[in-house]
Amino acid sequence: MLVMKFGGSSVANREQITKVLGIVRGQAKRRPLVVSSAHKGITDALVRAAKEAAAGRLDAETVLARQRAVAGELGCDAGLLEPLYRELSDLLRGIHLVRELSPRSLDFVSSFGERWSVRVIADFFRREGLPARAYDVWDLGFVTDATFGSARPLSSFPDAAKKAVAAMPADEVAIVTGFVGKTVDGDITTVGRNGSDLTATLLGAAIGAEEVQIWSDTDGVMSADPSVVKSARNIPEMRFEEAAELAYFGSRVLHPATLLPAMEAKIPVRVLNTNRPEHPGTVIEDRAQNPRDVTSIAYKEGQLVLTITTTRMFGESGFLGRVFEACARQGVVVDVVTTSEVSVSLTANAAEPLERAAAELQPLIEPQGGQVRIERGRSIVVVVGQHLSRKPGLGAEILGAVARAGVNVEMISHAFGSINLSLVVRDEDVGKTALVLHQVLFEG
Ligand code: ASP
Ligand code: MG
Repeated sequence: MLVMKFGGSSVANREQITKVLGIVRGQAKRRPLVVSSAHKGITDALVRAAKEAAAGRLDAETVLARQRAVAGELGCDAGLLEPLYRELSDLLRGIHLVRELSPRSLDFVSSFGERWSVRVIADFFRREGLPARAYDVWDLGFVTDATFGSARPLSSFPDAAKKAVAAMPADEVAIVTGFVGKTVDGDITTVGRNGSDLTATLLGAAIGAEEVQIWSDTDGVMSADPSVVKSARNIPEMRFEEAAELAYFGSRVLHPATLLPAMEAKIPVRVLNTNRPEHPGTVIEDRAQNPRDVTSIAYKEGQLVLTITTTRMFGESGFLGRVFEACARQGVVVDVVTTSEVSVSLTANAAEPLERAAAELQPLIEPQGGQVRIERGRSIVVVVGQHLSRKPGLGAEILGAVARAGVNVEMISHAFGSINLSLVVRDEDVGKTALVLHQVLFEG
């Protein structure tokens, strides 16, 4: 079987959904199971409606009108979604009444986008002559824990999914909700924003799919962000570890947690473009061979750097341990770390926890006249590639290019045998840095 996931822009309207129909039809022989997001913009509109209701402004009509417009365009019967429309209106009225939006209610409201979209898509496919049926993913055993906003399926899911899928009529395409789930008590949950990809890989792993396809609006994973680097190009294949690195560092295409289930189950993930289905996209798998020295360049802006300078570090054991203990206590998520004999710098992306950690560390170093400081507005630029640690001169090439562009590199990190090299630069230099790196590494 094949799991095909279509994102919000792929199912935005009739024009896009017609493209999806053609793509799914073309794969009919591989027994596709379709996972769909909400139509583009609907989840945002639902979240907004929920927050507004809690703030005393009740408006169900704005989001309902948007959904009705898509359903109407597709020629769906006006009654098709009526019960679900009523359910949302009641729910928003309840939130408005109590002026309170719990994570549980927010997940409940957010879930309607996918529950609507699968129903109108299946209905449209049927009328266009492709037998299809809509499923809420919990009908396939997707029972989750009660961590609203980032719920995960229970260990019962794989078996339940296999049974449910085996019982599906073979001549029908299943159109399944991404993003949502349900607890054993029947409360609706979500796996997190942009989480439909994760639903797709979890489902693919559970049923042992031959492949999980992620259909979106770029030609697979690109060598850099095409909106910054015009000459960015497609990466035909890459390994899970490379893709995971990029997903984490802000590559817009994949959600960081998405790849784990596929990686564990050794199921290839293919990233494809709904608007150009003939393009081969990117395949992410275990044994991918990437002939290039470098796979891709990605970056994260708006980071902070904490630097501690103290002679206490000199020849003493346990100092770094205390620094990281303070970070752990204060909930600092550390990305890049560099150390020398008398200083340590680390990056993080949230100011408050880092400030608390800095305050906690201050007394530790004060007696020796050291310093704790925080720099803001920094970017981590990461170069990812399988050959980074094996090819002499690559690091020099990278740093040389950045230096020639007049950018000052404030931190560098490259671990033993690692597939990434990270640089920290000022936010205002990040575009320039990505551009020159792309030039020397991809266009040379
Ligand atoms: N519709 C959800 C969102 O917008 C999930 C997804 O699109 O993957 O976050
Ligand atoms: Mg989306």
